Amino acid sequence: MCQTRVLSVSSAKAPFEKTTIERRALRPHDVLIDIQFSGICHSDIHSAFDEWGGGIFPMVPGHEIAGIVSAVGTEVTKFVVGDRVGVGCFVDSCGECEYCLKGEEQYCTKGFVATYNSLDYDGNPTYGGYSQKIVVTERFVVRIPDSLELNVASPLLCAGITTYSPLKHWNAGPGKKVAIVGVGGLGHLAIQYAHAMGAEVTVLSRSIGKKEEALSFGADHYFATSDPATFTTLASQFDLILNTVSANLDVDAYLSLLRIDGTLVNVGAPAEPDKYQVFSLIMGRRSIAGSLVGGIRETQEMLDFSAEHGIAPKIEVIRADQVDEAYQRVLRSDVRYRFVIDVSTL
Ligand code: NAP
Ligand code: ZN
Repeated sequence: MCQTRVLSVSSAKAPFEKTTIERRALRPHDVLIDIQFSGICHSDIHSAFDEWGGGIFPMVPGHEIAGIVSAVGTEVTKFVVGDRVGVGCFVDSCGECEYCLKGEEQYCTKGFVATYNSLDYDGNPTYGGYSQKIVVTERFVVRIPDSLELNVASPLLCAGITTYSPLKHWNAGPGKKVAIVGVGGLGHLAIQYAHAMGAEVTVLSRSIGKKEEALSFGADHYFATSDPATFTTLASQFDLILNTVSANLDVDAYLSLLRIDGTLVNVGAPAEPDKYQVFSLIMGRRSIAGSLVGGIRETQEMLDFSAEHGIAPKIEVIRADQVDEAYQRVLRSDVRYRFVIDVSTL
């Protein structure tokens, strides 16, 4: 066992406190990671505020983890001490079901173990990356390419893979018109991936305020959704719409922007149910879909793709004592575009 300093919340919406927890003793396939940076995902806020329900408290959020391997179990083959590594949204899965065997551990039929706010298969609560150390079985650890700084790499472990995976799955590429809704942590990376994959990329943001930056991320077109004309100008245009918004949208309005056979893919995860008219689907053989992060193999592929194409999040590095304020700023969409905690300040 080893002790580690963490940032935890004792109950829903409580302020963060610096406390100490114990990480398990290394099992044969475990690696001990000295965490250096941990990104703040909007899912951390949904969870720490218990907006999705079922929160396990005290909670140590954080599933965008970047650090250095500082010890390895006796049977570890994938990593050695000193390796630059990342951990994303889950830390275990059954390893045997159809989806685990396909490398899609996020859809494990037994249920994956989330990096925090979850119980591991022994029934112990998991604690995430707002922490100086974490113990993870090597199968759920990925390698960070040398050309990516650890602070910049950390948001890729959730925001990166959550957008890369559906864009690939729904074939964003040459000849495809793709819309990205919301320019936050996920959205600003989605623009970069869709552009790098060769799609024609349109950004839909509430205001015109993020236009210059969205174009610099690779967007071809930019429209403000606060302007009703946007929805007539862009009617029936898109093969794929990737919705990264943390709140409920007027789903029918966005469905009207899809071509025949187009798909609206939700990665944004508001707590309240969405509403839409079935006719919005029927009249154009359109689909509504969702997508959950991505598997370990695809996460490694996304990191390598990011390094190869020079894709990186725009980040603001903060101290541990700034996390409460950072949460409020994310809620006000006052973040360009991802907060990353320097965990040495814990
Ligand atoms: P974020 O940085 O807060 O970005 C969300 C963006 O949504 C904002 O920048 C804003 O973009 C837009 N937005 C916010 N409130 C809105 C409202 N009331 N109406 C319309 N647009 C609004 O959040 P994030 O970290 O990217 O996460 C986004 C969502 O994805 C969250 O719900 C999170 O839980 C979810 N998520 C899902 C997965 C998954 O596996 N499916 C993984 C990670 C995160 P504009 O200012 O450009 O309009
Ligand atoms: Zn996340």
